[in-house]
Amino acid sequence: MSDFDPQNFYYATTPPPPPHAQLLGETRADVCIVGGGISGLSAALHLAERGFSVALLEARHLGFGGSGRSGGQTIFGYASGQEKLEKIVGKADARRMWDIALEGMKLQRELIVRHSIDCDYVAGHMHVGVKARHDSELRTEVESLREHYDYHSVRLVGRDELRAIVPSERYTSGIHDSNSGHLQPYKFTLGLAAAAARAGVKIFENSWVTKLDLAAEASADSAAHTASGTVRARHVLIAGNALLGRLVPELARKLMAVGTYIAATEVLGERRASALITNNAAVADINWVLDYFRRSADHRLLFGGRVSYSGIDPFDSARVLGARIRRVFPQLADARIEYAWGGYVDISPNRAPHFGRLAPNAYFLQGFSGHGMVLSVIAGKLVAEAMAGSAERFDVFSKIPHADFPGGTYFRRPALVLAMLWFRLRDLL
Ligand SMILES: Cc1cc2nc3c(=O)[nH]c(=O)nc-3n(C[C@H](O)[C@H](O)[C@H](O)COP(=O)(O)OP(=O)(O)OC[C@H]3O[C@@H](n4cnc5c(N)ncnc54)[C@H](O)[C@@H]3O)c2cc1C
Repeated sequence: MSDFDPQNFYYATTPPPPPHAQLLGETRADVCIVGGGISGLSAALHLAERGFSVALLEARHLGFGGSGRSGGQTIFGYASGQEKLEKIVGKADARRMWDIALEGMKLQRELIVRHSIDCDYVAGHMHVGVKARHDSELRTEVESLREHYDYHSVRLVGRDELRAIVPSERYTSGIHDSNSGHLQPYKFTLGLAAAAARAGVKIFENSWVTKLDLAAEASADSAAHTASGTVRARHVLIAGNALLGRLVPELARKLMAVGTYIAATEVLGERRASALITNNAAVADINWVLDYFRRSADHRLLFGGRVSYSGIDPFDSARVLGARIRRVFPQLADARIEYAWGGYVDISPNRAPHFGRLAPNAYFLQGFSGHGMVLSVIAGKLVAEAMAGSAERFDVFSKIPHADFPGGTYFRRPALVLAMLWFRLRDLL
């Protein structure tokens, strides 16, 4: 059976990429990377550019995880917000993290240009409020970003202007950021993979790592084993993120894989699609259980929403998301949903990224908490820097304390379902 979900709009409409062989037998590389999403591929590319030999193992196909399913919104900063980061790591490191996130946005655009990645990148993002009380929250955020972080690409959009851009009764005001934007995430992932392969990275698909032997000494090799082979390498990067499962229990305890869903309408035509978001920005609302949407290059509405903290549960996502779309845009009552798919978002307990080491030469990246489209790109570069001997920037992140999710491995889902009910209630107030 094909691993390519036919209900995923991106898989269904992107020209099929060249397949990569399965790992067979034993091979050696300077670096072994587990996971063929944007994190793993960005690290692979940056490492190969520095002269490392790299073998990348992907359990299914490139972009099987969030990188091939995402809403594609490229958003500034961190899900935790700067104020919370300042409390966790102090003002100086929060500022360093901010600068790195902005560098990530620039790096993403540079990679698109440098490697001619055709991924429908569009600048512009709006974070919108749904209640009167959100207006002051958004105003404070704009003021704080401008004043404390010299971030001047954001501006407040009042109710009338917002309604002229997004003709929906639902939104009260918003922040527009000309530096954020959106792209087709699967095409971006494949573009990075092509660039990495050209730089010499050996990519293996259908190569699920079932066991890791991580060397306790920096001078020894580690090994990653699949059912049909082994990679031995001095350095390892674990970039399996929300799909890593229990391969590394200490990472699983610090991550909640949250099921979320996206629907794509039928092609609406340029005029009708343009009228829904006249400036073609990506839009996300301010709720905890948020709606997020954007126009596709072929003039559909892509609309994400509804989360499940108890895993991807079987439900009629096309019907449920269709109802959510009509709540925002009643004018789309007759628009058919052509695709609907789900995936797992990688959420950390404090919603700051979770990076670190499991052994002197074994690194991991996870927990981008809904900002992974940008942060995974720069995270890969930071890992390459660290493996090459400059770990200062990586260690700004590895110092962030992360608690375990409550309830232990077996009980944390029920605990989270309860927590989510509380957040949903809060959205309603
Ligand atoms: C529906 C959805 C919507 C989203 N929307 C947005 C958005 O609009 N903006 C945003 O910034 N973020 C969004 N995200 C989150 C974002 O997609 C992720 O943070 C990002 O793609 C993470 O990239 P990654 O490379 O770290 O992980 P992934 O893309 O998940 O890649 C991990 C890869 O590792 C592989 N793997 C796992 N275990 C193993 C193993 N043992 N052996 C070999 N391979 C393994 C998996 O098969 C997978 O391909 C969304 C996510 C989802 C699911």
